[in-house]
Amino acid sequence: MAQCEYCGRNINFLSKKYYVYPAKMKGSLEITQATIICKDCISKYLTGSDKSEFDKRSNIAILIVKKDFKEALKVLESVFDKENEADWYSKGNILLNLGDAGEALECYDEALFLDTHYIKAWYRKGHVLFCMMKFMDSAKCFENVVELEGGGNTGRKLTGWGFPALFCCMIAWISANNELVNKGKPSKEVYATTGMWVDKCHSLLTRPLPVYEDERGNLKYVTLVSPELNETQFVDYCVANFHKILDEIEPSVVAEFKSLEDFEKEH
Ligand SMILES: [Zn+2]
Repeated sequence: MAQCEYCGRNINFLSKKYYVYPAKMKGSLEITQATIICKDCISKYLTGSDKSEFDKRSNIAILIVKKDFKEALKVLESVFDKENEADWYSKGNILLNLGDAGEALECYDEALFLDTHYIKAWYRKGHVLFCMMKFMDSAKCFENVVELEGGGNTGRKLTGWGFPALFCCMIAWISANNELVNKGKPSKEVYATTGMWVDKCHSLLTRPLPVYEDERGNLKYVTLVSPELNETQFVDYCVANFHKILDEIEPSVVAEFKSLEDFEKEH
């Protein structure tokens, strides 16, 4: 019989088990194994079902779309639950939009401390670290996204976070490699890792990809980079057009809150 790792009670074999992924240490870049917990414990740490709170949280997403980040932060703080990773994630996104990357990073770390399988938080953290020029840590965050999204398997639909993470991972490794070369300290290991990600991205981005889904759920194919480019030209093109390519493939930012139902769908 399984035991809840939070409250210690036995979980009857007919009851549902829940899997959560807390980190061992705040700020760690590691993905952790599942911790099994019972329904009572999972309910405690997910967003409450209180109606007025639900309305407030829905309003946060609207305020973010309207780019009223100050008001969004105020509303979020009025319902904020520090045991809820989605609140930390939303707060991080809002702070990032208000130009406070340092505090945003702390929020993503709090989210990932609660859940090392929080794909979007890894993705955002990867971007913040990239902007802070911490390229290798940034690359590790993007690698985590790719791993959690199924290894960048090209057989899957390329909507979601795995594909943009694959691309960002390549850019982060290229930047890490360039930085070392500029300092006169080239590393064979970094060069080889960079090459591996360039190979993956080159073969993917130069062919028609099912990147978009229209309203009816049909896939739309897009070729992001001309197949005529060799790998060196490809790298130059990707670095020069980093944001343009990312705009095409990155899901848009919204606040989120998780209900038990969402949680069950995801895990
Ligand atoms: Zn429990």
